[in-house]
Amino acid sequence: MKKGITTSTAEKKETPEGLWSKCPECGYICTMTELRENLFVCPKCTHHHRIGSAEYFEILFDDNKYEVLFENIRSKDFLHFTDLKSYGKRLDEIWAKTDITDSIRIGKGNLKGIPFMVGCMDFEFIGGSLGSVMGERIARAIDVCLEEKIPMMIICKSGGARMMESAFSLMQLAKVSGKLSQLTDAKIPYISLQTDPSFGGISASFGMLGDLNIAEPGALIGFAGPRVIKETIKKDLPEGFQRSEFLLEHGFLDFIVPRKELKEKLATVLSLFKN
Ligand SMILES: [Zn+2]
Repeated sequence: MKKGITTSTAEKKETPEGLWSKCPECGYICTMTELRENLFVCPKCTHHHRIGSAEYFEILFDDNKYEVLFENIRSKDFLHFTDLKSYGKRLDEIWAKTDITDSIRIGKGNLKGIPFMVGCMDFEFIGGSLGSVMGERIARAIDVCLEEKIPMMIICKSGGARMMESAFSLMQLAKVSGKLSQLTDAKIPYISLQTDPSFGGISASFGMLGDLNIAEPGALIGFAGPRVIKETIKKDLPEGFQRSEFLLEHGFLDFIVPRKELKEKLATVLSLFKN
């Protein structure tokens, strides 16, 4: 017993983590390997699990080959913002915990042989929130797109603005929207893919500025959350409110694409744009 207690943390055997996954929608239990092979879509009810940029890049880019750009741009606590803890401390803690350097990663690679730039948000980094770094990385990615005539896609997965950056966060909305209009002038396509969840300022600006605004099935997309809206308008909300299917029906989206068909569909769309 004593020996067990004194085992140092470094010598402890790791318990394998995440071997099994339970679907939050239907409760179906399967191994992570099975789920991964199914592109993180529930084999039983087709619920699309939330995934990060690494998984999306693997799905989209040929042979999982891509270049990650602008990783050197990092967030800074220039407002000395403190909520439960200081923003600076919050950032340090996340950087220590994960390899993800901010709430968006820019990947450049080929999709079925077509050069493609993808900015993909990571929800695990402060809720995929929009800070100055996300704005700057997108802006620089667009510069590369303009220079090399490469189509661009942003995969949204965000709760909205990063409150710790206050107005600096909101300024990114104008900045990114401005850069996107340069893409329009250069006749380079921009696609916005909204995944679960896409909320706040992002869905209210560049998330809806795509030449194509598309979404994954069952994704929650909106500006304010349903509770806030319900309290404001004092009415019950219709069924399926803020789900991608509801938005498609009401003209906000061009189409919904299941994850398994995403790459194929994008290749078709991009070659149509090209011709
Ligand atoms: Zn399921």
